[in-house]
Amino acid sequence: MKIFKTKKNLNSYLSLFDKNISVGFIPTMGAIHNGHLKLVQTSKNECDKTICSIFINPTQFDNSEDFHNYPKTFNEDIKKLKESKCDIVYAPNVLDLYKKNEKAKKYNFRKIDLFMEGKFRKNHFNGVATIIEKLFKIIEPNKAYFGEKDIQQLQIIKNLVNQINSKTTIVGVPTVREKNGLAMSSRNKLLSNKEKEKAAMIYRCLNYCKKNRLQPISKLKEYIIEKFKKTKELDLEYIEFVSLNSMLPIKNWGEEKNNVVCIAAHIKKVRLIDNIIL
Ligand code: AMP
Repeated sequence: MKIFKTKKNLNSYLSLFDKNISVGFIPTMGAIHNGHLKLVQTSKNECDKTICSIFINPTQFDNSEDFHNYPKTFNEDIKKLKESKCDIVYAPNVLDLYKKNEKAKKYNFRKIDLFMEGKFRKNHFNGVATIIEKLFKIIEPNKAYFGEKDIQQLQIIKNLVNQINSKTTIVGVPTVREKNGLAMSSRNKLLSNKEKEKAAMIYRCLNYCKKNRLQPISKLKEYIIEKFKKTKELDLEYIEFVSLNSMLPIKNWGEEKNNVVCIAAHIKKVRLIDNIIL
């Protein structure tokens, strides 16, 4: 596995590739877990070469404490990616990608960013899109892999490739979960085992919606809000029922597989998000 710290060295290596070679790309912020590795595996099944980036993008954090607390486990990450037979890792420092004091670009995501993460994390998606645009311009991957765990981000990126006329195909990969249903996340590293058990309630609520899909949305929403009120360790930030393509709230169920139930909740100071497509 090749590891590059600068875009210059990465680009000189990539320029040696035959034009017919297909490249799959997985952008990550490190603290690699099985969710990331499923993306790597999917890329390996579909592309000739797989590149993974490890970069904690400062412009997508609206909260500096969250940025500083974000887990950093570079050596373990490299070991896991090597074992997964990832071909290339690009792990730059901030100045390889951003000019000093550079801010996120402003995009028009056509309302995809109006609710949920876009509403509660101001400027988050402008930061995400800024870094993904930079990475896509350097790597020019044929395909890029994103987790359905961050479903609103996945829709934002699909919108971004149209805005910037990128030829990269965006592939969504289903969420990988712990045995208890908790969605794998780098932030889970900040939780004790007991807290992880508590946090699994998020998935149980999503599953409750799946099992009771014939009930009205307002009733399910009320049930979940009550459930969180009774669980003192978990603070519900939002629960939204949205349409998959527009990411706008719905009052009534749309066609099957076109609805998403999304939850964000805090346990201690750790913010977790999850969703289920119904
Ligand atoms: P992150 O390092 O959190 O920015 O995540 C990098 C990529 O991995 C994003 O596309 C995430 O959606 C994806 N991802 C994170 N957790 C999971 C998971 N549990 N299952 C599938 N994909 C995931």
